[in-house]
Amino acid sequence: MAKTASASQKYVYFFGNKKADGNGGMKPLLGGKGANLAEMTRIGLPVPPGFTITTEVCTYYYAHKQTYPKEMWPQVKAAVANTEKILGKRFGDVEKPLLVAVRSGARDSMPGMMDTILNLGLNDDTVLALEKISGNPRFAWDCYRRFIQMYGDVVMGVQKSPSEDHEPFEVVIDTLKGELFPGKEHVEDTKIDVEGLKELVKRFKALVKDRAGKEFPTDPWEQLKGAIGAVFGSWMNDRAIVYRRKYNIPTEWGTAVNVQSMVFGNTGDKSGSGVAFTRNPASGEKVFYGEFLINAQGEDVVAGVRTPKPVAELAKIMPDAAKELERIRKILEGHFRDVQDFEFTIEDGKVFMLQTRNGKRTGLAAIRFAVEMEKEGLISWEEAVQRVPAEQLDQVLAPVFDRASVKSAKCIARGLPAGPGAATGRIYFNADRAAEAAHRGEKVLLVRVETSPEDLRGMIAAEGILTARGGVSSHAALVARQMGKVCVCGATALQVDYQAKKMTVGGVTLKEGDFLSIDGTVGEVYPGELKTAPSEIIQVLIAKTLDAKESRTFQYYNQIMKWCDKATRMKVRTNADSPEQAANAVAFGAVGIGLCRTEHMFFEGNRIDAMREMILADNLDDRKKALAKLLPYQRNDFAGIFRELKGLPATIRTLDPPLHEFLPHEAEAQKDLAAKMAVPVERIQRRVKELHEFNPMLGLRGCRLGIVHPEITEMQIRAIIEAAVLVQKEGIPVKPEIMIVLVGYPKELLNQLAVVHRVAQQVQDEQKTKIKYMVGTMIEVPRGALVADEIAKDAEFFSFGTNDLTQTTLGMSRDDSGPFLQPYAELEIIKQNPFATIDQIGVGQLMKTAVALGRKTRPDIKLGICGEHGGEPSSVKFCHRIGLNYVSCSPFRVPIARLAAAQAALEEKKENATKATKK
Ligand code: PEP
Ligand code: MG
Repeated sequence: MAKTASASQKYVYFFGNKKADGNGGMKPLLGGKGANLAEMTRIGLPVPPGFTITTEVCTYYYAHKQTYPKEMWPQVKAAVANTEKILGKRFGDVEKPLLVAVRSGARDSMPGMMDTILNLGLNDDTVLALEKISGNPRFAWDCYRRFIQMYGDVVMGVQKSPSEDHEPFEVVIDTLKGELFPGKEHVEDTKIDVEGLKELVKRFKALVKDRAGKEFPTDPWEQLKGAIGAVFGSWMNDRAIVYRRKYNIPTEWGTAVNVQSMVFGNTGDKSGSGVAFTRNPASGEKVFYGEFLINAQGEDVVAGVRTPKPVAELAKIMPDAAKELERIRKILEGHFRDVQDFEFTIEDGKVFMLQTRNGKRTGLAAIRFAVEMEKEGLISWEEAVQRVPAEQLDQVLAPVFDRASVKSAKCIARGLPAGPGAATGRIYFNADRAAEAAHRGEKVLLVRVETSPEDLRGMIAAEGILTARGGVSSHAALVARQMGKVCVCGATALQVDYQAKKMTVGGVTLKEGDFLSIDGTVGEVYPGELKTAPSEIIQVLIAKTLDAKESRTFQYYNQIMKWCDKATRMKVRTNADSPEQAANAVAFGAVGIGLCRTEHMFFEGNRIDAMREMILADNLDDRKKALAKLLPYQRNDFAGIFRELKGLPATIRTLDPPLHEFLPHEAEAQKDLAAKMAVPVERIQRRVKELHEFNPMLGLRGCRLGIVHPEITEMQIRAIIEAAVLVQKEGIPVKPEIMIVLVGYPKELLNQLAVVHRVAQQVQDEQKTKIKYMVGTMIEVPRGALVADEIAKDAEFFSFGTNDLTQTTLGMSRDDSGPFLQPYAELEIIKQNPFATIDQIGVGQLMKTAVALGRKTRPDIKLGICGEHGGEPSSVKFCHRIGLNYVSCSPFRVPIARLAAAQAALEEKKENATKATKK
C-alpha cells in the first residue's frame, strides 16, 4: 500500500562527510545502492556526497498518477544545499558548478535494467566553468555532449524509431566523423577534438529540438526533476518488468533514486574508472580481482567498447591509487564480512567509491569464500554454512560448460532444468542407436519426444537427455537425476521427426549424429559442441579417480558438509533402485534409502519382458509364472542393496507401475514381445487395448494392483525377506522398511499388511531366521493425508509422495502440465513450478495435517518425504519446519539436501534465539 504523505515523512536521506541519515540495513527503503552508499560513508570511505530518494516515493509515484509527495521537493533542495556546502560548489554556478549523477537502485540489484544519467547540471555556461577548473576543454565538452545524449535519450525520449536502424545520436556522431575524417572508417570517439565536440553539442541540441519538440533544458533544477522522473519511470519499462519476473522481484518494492555528486574518471591519464571484487568471484581465490580503464567513466568499463586492464596492473600505473584501493578492499571485507563487488573512480589520482554490494559468485567461489572466511575469523562456521546457496552446489557437483564457449553460442531452445550439469554429444533419436554409438566411443545425447522405460539403455549410454515433453517429475527427469545424468525436458519448441531422424528448433535443423549441447542446470539447448569441464567432487567421491588431498575444491566442499552434519536435525536419505545408486548416495552422505521404486528394477535387459508378461497376463497361472521369473531378479537386487547399505535402512516400495509406461505400444515392440512369449501378436494387441487407461496416472496403480492381484505383493515380500535373510546370514545387518503405495483408505493398507505379514512370517519360518522389518505407507493422495490418524494405527511410518500428492491435489498431470505451467508463471498465477518446489500453501497444508494426525495416533511415527521435492532446497527447508524426520532425494542431490537441511536448522535456531531475547 502506498503510504500517505505526512508532514514528518522523510523521503530523502543524505550521505556525505562521514555522516549519513541511512545505513546498510535499510535496503528496503533506500535500495541496495543507497543503503550501502550510506554505510560506506559512515565507515569513512571516500564516497562523493549525495542523497537517496526512497523507494516509498516510487510507490507513491505510481499510486498517484506519477506525482510526488509534496514534502519531497523541499527535502531534495535541502539535500542539494548540503552537498553544495560540503563541496563548495553550487548547482548552475558559473565558477564552481555542482554536477551530479542520477541513478536507480532497487532493493536487489537489477543490472542495466533501469536508467542512469551522468554529468547533470551542465549547460552552455557551466561547461565553460568545467573547462576552466579542469584545465581540460576536451574533457568538459565531452562530458557535455555525453550528458545531452543520455538525457535526450532517457528523459526526452529521443530514441530510435521502429523504422530506423541506428540510434539518432549515433547517426549524428557518425555523420560528423564522416565530415571530419573523410574516407576513414571506425574512428574512435576520442579522436574528435574540442571544436568537433562543440559542433556535436550544437547538433545534438538541434536533434533534441527536432525530435522532442522543445529545447534542451538549461536549468539544472529542471534537469534534475526530469532525471528523477525518468528513473522512477524506468521501474516500469519492459526490460525491468521482464527482469523482475525472471528473478521473482515484486513490483511493490519499487526503486530508489540516488543523486550523487560527480567525480570524473575521464579528466586525463591520472584518472580512470573500474569495477572490482574483493576476491575472485569465479574461482574463489583470495586475490584482488577486477578491471579498470584509464581516462574513462564507469559506463565505459561496463559497456565493453574499450578493453579494460586487470586491476593488478594499476600498481604500475598509479601506485598510490592502487595502495588506496587495497586499503579499501580490506576495510570493505572487514566491515561487510562478505566478498564485495564495487565500483570506483579515480579522479586525478584520488580514489572514490561509487557503489558496493555482496558479490555474485559461482558455486565454487561460494564454498571457497565460506570456508576461507571462517578460517580467517571473519565469519562463524554457522554463517559459512548459510553463505552457500544450496542450489549452487549443483554447480560444483555437475560438469559445467566453459564460460567463454557459452558466451559465443546461441541458445536455440529452453526447457525445464531437470538434471543439472552440462552435456554435449552427437544426437540420437532412438535408445538403441544411441547405445550403439556410445559403444563405438561416441559422446551421445538422447533426444526423444518423451522417454519410457525402453529408453533406459540409451539414457545410460548418453551424456545427457533432451525431451520435448514432460515435466520435472516426469519419468525422464527423475530417472536422469537418479543416474546423475544431465537432462532438459519439456523443451516444447523442439520438433522431433523420428522417421526422418531429424529435429527442428529455433530455425535450426539437426540430423541424427550432429552435435548438440544441453545445460540441465538452467534448461538451455545450444547447437554444436560446447566445451565441458568435469566436477572434482564427483571424481573424488564417485569415480574415485582423484585423491581427496589433491583437490582443494573437494576439501572446501567436504568442510561445508562436515559443518552441515553439526547443525542438522533432519536426516537425508536417497531414492535409489540399484546397489550402484545406493553406493553413490552413501558416498554423498545419505543415511539410507527413502524410496526404492521396485518397478524401476525391471527397466534393465530382459527383465522388462517378464514384467510385461506379468502385466499382460489375463489369468492367475500366467501371472504367477511371470512373477516366478521376476522373483530371483528382485531378490538379487534387494540383496545387493542391503549389502551396499550395511545396516542403513532401506525403504522398499511395493510395485507402482503406471501401466502406460510399461505396455508395448509400438507395433514393432508388440511383435517382439509376442515372439518372446510365443503367443500370437493379436493376443498382445488385445490385452494392450483392454488395459488401456484414459487416465493412467489415476488408474490401476499402486496398492490397487496388489489388492486386485495379491500374488504380486506376495512375490515382492518374499523377495525382500529372502534377500534380508541371505544378507543377514552373511553377517551384514539389514533394515528393511516395506512401504505400501498410493494409500487413501485405511483398509487398503490393512489389506496389504495382511499379505506382508503372512508372507514375511512364512519366509522366516522356512529360513528359520528372524528379520526385523517395519511397514509403513506413502501419503500421496489427499484422502490419505486427511485420514492420516486412521492410517497411522497400522503404519509405522509415512513417506510423502509429493509428486503424486501435488498431481492429485492440484488435479494437474505431472506429465502434461508443461504447456500451461509456463503461461501460469508468466501471469504470476504460480510463483514456482509446483512439481519442483512444494506448493506450501496448498499441498503443504495437507502435509501439515497428515503430520499432526499421524503423530496424534502414533507419537513416534517416522515421517519422511520421497517426492522429487525432497532434493529442492526451499522444499527441504519446509520439510524441516513441519517436523519431518528425513527427506529422500536422488543420489546427486543428497549434498544439496544436506546443506538445505542444515540451513533450515540454523535458521530455526536463530529465530528461536530472537524470540527468546524478545521475551
Ligand atoms: C511420488 O509420487 O512423490 C513418488 C515418490 O512416487 P512416484 O514418483 O514413483 O509416483
Ligand atoms: Mg507416487
